[in-house]
Amino acid sequence: MERFCWCKHCERAWITVEWVAHNGCPAARCNAYVADRLKWSDVLALVPTYPKIPNLGRKYPLIGSWGF
Ligand SMILES: [Zn+2]
Repeated sequence: MERFCWCKHCERAWITVEWVAHNGCPAARCNAYVADRLKWSDVLALVPTYPKIPNLGRKYPLIGSWGF
């Protein structure tokens, strides 16, 4: 399992084990399900300028890449 992941709903970065422990997005106001995440490496593939190690809980938009 990759260390970091990204939420398709709130577009924030998280630690994957924390996501799994919450059974979904750890953000208080986000109701994303456990499958609603991308690997951080997939986000980096779409936006190479994002940092290799994301700031947790920070929003990293992928506007235009996904229809959410
Ligand atoms: Zn979320």
